[in-house]
Amino acid sequence: MTDEYILYGRVIDGTGADPIERGAVVVVGERLAWVGARDALPESWKHQPAAATVVDFGDATIIPGIVDAHCHISYGEPRSEEELAMYGSAEWRAIVATHSAKRVLRAGVTSASDPAAVYRVPIAVRDAVEAGLVEGPRFAVAGPEITTHQGLGDAFPNWIANPPGNASVLVRSKDEILEAVRLQIKDTVDFVKVAGSGDATSYYNPIHGCAFRLDELQLLSDEVHRLGRKCTIHARSAESVTFAAKAGFDWIMHASFMDDEGLELVAEKKIPICPTLPLLVNALDATGAEMSAASRDSLKREIDTSAENIRRAYDAGVPLMAGSEAGFSLTPYGEWHAKEMEILVTHVGLSPLAAINAGTLQAARTLPRWESEIGSLDAGKLADILVVDGDPSKDIRVLQHTESFRMIMKAGKEVDLTTPVPAREQVRFERQHVYFNGRHTFSG
Ligand SMILES: [Zn+2]
Repeated sequence: MTDEYILYGRVIDGTGADPIERGAVVVVGERLAWVGARDALPESWKHQPAAATVVDFGDATIIPGIVDAHCHISYGEPRSEEELAMYGSAEWRAIVATHSAKRVLRAGVTSASDPAAVYRVPIAVRDAVEAGLVEGPRFAVAGPEITTHQGLGDAFPNWIANPPGNASVLVRSKDEILEAVRLQIKDTVDFVKVAGSGDATSYYNPIHGCAFRLDELQLLSDEVHRLGRKCTIHARSAESVTFAAKAGFDWIMHASFMDDEGLELVAEKKIPICPTLPLLVNALDATGAEMSAASRDSLKREIDTSAENIRRAYDAGVPLMAGSEAGFSLTPYGEWHAKEMEILVTHVGLSPLAAINAGTLQAARTLPRWESEIGSLDAGKLADILVVDGDPSKDIRVLQHTESFRMIMKAGKEVDLTTPVPAREQVRFERQHVYFNGRHTFSG
C-alpha cells in the first residue's frame, strides 16, 4: 500500500517565496502530491483518509530537505593533508563513509554533492544508498579532483609522489587530462572536479593564478560535456575563476578572490557559485586550534574578500548554492551542513529565505541527475522534507538544531530519528604518526 501523509505547519517551499504561515503538505508514496495553505487544501484531503498519517506540527516549519552542494563523504574527518592522503585503507574508508552518510542524513540533508573522492568511495556510497543497502542522502559524486602541480590536489613536496589515497589525480599533459576524464566517466562519476587554484592553507600551492592554462581547462570542459557530464572547479584565485567561466564550467566553488573580469563573465553566463565558507569560518571560530597570526590574518582576509565578492555576484544575478565542506576535523559530518546558510545571512547579507533557497533549490543544480526532482516543495517532486522547531525565516540557525528536528523524510520515507547514531573518533591507524608532541625538558 502506498504511504500517505498530511502534514500541517508553517511551510517554506525553498523557492525564496514567503512562508505560508498555516500551510499543508500532502505526500503520496515517494512524491509530494499537494503543497499550499491549509485552508485551500482540496476536499478529498480534508477528509483525512484513514490510510493517511496526519501530523499537525503547530508552530514548527516544514522545508525541503537540505541539499549540501559540497560534502566530502570519503574524507573521514582528517586533521591534515597526511591524514587525508595516507592513512586508512580504501576498505576502511568505505565502511566509515557508510556511517558518515547516516550522520549527514540525520542533519536534515536529503541530497548531497561530493566533489573529490578518496579512491572510489563516494561512488560506492552513492550506489549503496540508491540500492537501499545504506542509509544516507542521495549523492551526486565526482572522482578524485584533477590537479596539476600548481593545484590544491598536489599537496606534497616534489620528492614524494602523489599518494594513491589522496583525493586527487595529478595530470601532466593534455593527454593525461583526457585520460583522467575518460577513466572517471567510465567509473560512472556524475561530474568532474578540477583543482583550479591552491588554498590559503596549502603550503605548496599559492592562491595566485590558475593551476591550468586556459586551453587545458577548455579541453577538459569540452571532453566532459562531449561525454554528457558536468564539471566544477575549486577556484579561489581571480584567474582561476575567469578561466573557469571562459572554459564553460558548470558551477564554481569558492570564487573568493574573483576580480571584475571574472565577475562579469560569471554574471553574463549565470554560472552558479558555491562559496563553501564554513571550513574557513570554523577555523577562525574554533577554540583551542593552534594557528599563527599570519594564518589567522590570511583566513580573515579571504572570508572578508569572499563575502564582498559573493555579495556582488548575488546582486548581479548569479545563483548562489550553499555547501558545508563537511568531512574535515573542523567540519565533522552531521554538524555543519546548514552553516553556510547562516554565513550567507551573517556575512553576505542575504535574507534567511534567500539563504534557504541557496541551501535547497539552488544547490540541487549540483546533482545533475536529480536536479528537477528535488530542492523545493512542489507537487510532483520527490517528498524530501525537513521539519524544524521554530521559524528559519526569522532565525536561520534553527536549521542547525538537529536535536530538535521533528521529522526528516526522504522520497516519502520517514527517517528514524530515535535510534542514536554512535559518535566516531579517528582510530589509531587513521591518525598522523607523531612520535612525540614537541620538545621535552628533563630534570636532573
Ligand atoms: Zn572541498
